[in-house]
Amino acid sequence: MVPVRTCVGCRRRSDQDDVVRFVLQDGQVRPDPARRMPGRGAWLHLSRECFDSALKRRAFSRAFRAAVSTEGLEYDAVAAHVSTDKRTGLKE
Ligand SMILES: [Zn+2]
Repeated sequence: MVPVRTCVGCRRRSDQDDVVRFVLQDGQVRPDPARRMPGRGAWLHLSRECFDSALKRRAFSRAFRAAVSTEGLEYDAVAAHVSTDKRTGLKE
């Protein structure tokens, strides 16, 4: 069974495979599509709507229980990074 996660953007529950993991690294929120980075994760649908609402509601700060910087975190970059990483993952 696939674990269920709650998206920090829309608060809906989803299979882990349908959401992308984010981690806090040096105070910055970074995507971790391979789910390899240590520490607490925040989960988000890869959709602009969820992404925008997570930023607007400071959902990442809440998820990580810390003041986090989402500066430089842009949907297009995240989406590109995630799709590249997934492609790489398939080859392994
Ligand atoms: Zn969502």
